[in-house]
Amino acid sequence: MTGIKNCPFCGSSNVKPYNLLGQDTDYAVACCQIDCGAEGPDKSTEQAAITAWNTRTDGWISVTFDMPKNKEKVIIHNSKNMYIAHYDGWGWLLSGFGYINNVTHWMPLPNPPTKGGDAK
Ligand SMILES: [Zn+2]
Repeated sequence: MTGIKNCPFCGSSNVKPYNLLGQDTDYAVACCQIDCGAEGPDKSTEQAAITAWNTRTDGWISVTFDMPKNKEKVIIHNSKNMYIAHYDGWGWLLSGFGYINNVTHWMPLPNPPTKGGDAK
């Protein structure tokens, strides 16, 4: 498959765009490596899914590029501070505080610690 970068997590070249749930408006690129299964963001076209998969950043995703799923808690940045908030379809809501303005980037929350922790 040309034009698709290797998996950023396991390095495999066994990555493919696929059509989610058979709907022709919902595409993502996934790593087909057993034990990995990394998946790019859902996009409305195969080419957009490939572009999204190929876009590598330091983890921050521009709000002009993609948005988190509704109500998914993420880390947001408004060029001054970071918060954990969710997008409610209208704005970035920080529980117990209100809306955060001028959000430029977000990233998914890391996984919570596992029992005992694993030192690297
Ligand atoms: Zn992978």
